Amino acid sequence: MSIAPTPHADAGVIDFTVPPELQELLGRVKAYISEDVLPVEGDIADPEDVLRSWEVVERLRDRARQRGIFTPHLPEEYGGLGVGVLGMALISQEVGAAPLAALGMNCMAPDEGNMHTLLLAGSEEQKERWLRPLAEGAIRSCFAMTEPDVASSDPTNLETSAVRSEDGSEWILNGRKWCITGAIGAAFAIVVAKTGSDAAAGHRNYSLIIVPTDTPGWTVERDPEWMGSHAPGGHPIIAIDDVRVPCENLLGAEGEGFVIAQKRLAGGRLAHAMRWIGMAQRALDLSTTRLLQRSTFGKELARHQMLQAMIADSAMDLYASRLMVLHTAWKLERGLPHRQEIAMTKTFVSEAFGRIADRAVQIHGAAGIALDLPVGRIYQDARAARIYDGASEVHRMTIARELLKLAMQGESTKAATGDLA
Ligand SMILES: Cc1cc2nc3c(=O)[nH]c(=O)nc-3n(C[C@H](O)[C@H](O)[C@H](O)COP(=O)(O)OP(=O)(O)OC[C@H]3O[C@@H](n4cnc5c(N)ncnc54)[C@H](O)[C@@H]3O)c2cc1C
Repeated sequence: MSIAPTPHADAGVIDFTVPPELQELLGRVKAYISEDVLPVEGDIADPEDVLRSWEVVERLRDRARQRGIFTPHLPEEYGGLGVGVLGMALISQEVGAAPLAALGMNCMAPDEGNMHTLLLAGSEEQKERWLRPLAEGAIRSCFAMTEPDVASSDPTNLETSAVRSEDGSEWILNGRKWCITGAIGAAFAIVVAKTGSDAAAGHRNYSLIIVPTDTPGWTVERDPEWMGSHAPGGHPIIAIDDVRVPCENLLGAEGEGFVIAQKRLAGGRLAHAMRWIGMAQRALDLSTTRLLQRSTFGKELARHQMLQAMIADSAMDLYASRLMVLHTAWKLERGLPHRQEIAMTKTFVSEAFGRIADRAVQIHGAAGIALDLPVGRIYQDARAARIYDGASEVHRMTIARELLKLAMQGESTKAATGDLA
């Protein structure tokens, strides 16, 4: 299934009509969220530790299977729906408003990205051993790149190494990772490790290696207290001491780690952006409701122009965010160049999310900073969005580089500003 936005051949203008089969699917997702997910949110004993209430997630997974919306992003041969990037963008917007929904539908980070990575670069054996149980929801996984001791925005800083054993049959890994989402209880990790030592090769010195987490030498040290919501399995620190895995656990070609990771991240960044839009929309809806409920100085908050300006600004942020995601997803789905658009979309939407969440806190007053109400949590979650999957500054470097490249060729920068008609 793919979603319509089709170009008019003459002008490159996009038709945003959502085809009937996707509308029907989105209807099922919405019904799932309102009828199955939201009513059981309160059954999660500790929102900081969803693993303690995993039976609730399992029940939601059964409901998602019954509704035919489980693992929507994967092809049918893996039990998915084969929904393309655009379709996933629209689904992500719905599930963004209710974090349990992505877990229930088995399309949450980092498993969604890992499934795409295995699909893209895995051997048939790797797909059978790791992708299939992941697709079935039988196991969880994590992606281990960031390290506590080096600035990981620059991937060539990463120090975790993988060297071949003397007989060449194994990789031996050593290093330390942190902020590894979902690592507690994950069955395996896709680890970014340095396998080459040619300084001139830069990021081509890095490879992806699959490490089962029950391998001796793989230790979850501890999970620090992080700001914001906690994914199942936290974001812990991992010690990797003489971890030995078979050579066949190399995922993709040696030295291709970041090439594969970039491909994985493109769709993942869009799914994140759409989830953020879902959360931002919820923050705005809560804000407008609140403005109508309370009064100061003889009239409803909704009648005060300073507060009206806040919700108007949030509406504009949301509109621009949605258009950017849809246009970028449209490019991705057609195999058109999209690196610049991904960088601009990830940066803009994460920052717009922050602005919308901040205004929602202000509109709610004290209730905005109460962490047992949704707005405070959304605000905390919004802050991390500017950091993971490439921090804003790093994406701005990419964006500026493309602009300057064109300028140096004596060309207009228009092609690097979305390349629209
Ligand atoms: C909620 C959350 C979940 C995460 N999950 C995972 C995960 O599952 N797996 C994983 O591997 N990692 C994960 N991360 C880590 C994330 O990918 C890194 O935090 C991110 O890549 C930045 O690396 P760093 O923290 O080392 O910051 P640093 O590299 O130390 O950067 C610090 C600051 O300097 C800025 N900066 C860097 N270079 C420049 C420059 N040239 N010019 C201007 N500014 C610059 C950065 O933008 C950043 O603001 C997660 C992070 C968060 C917040």
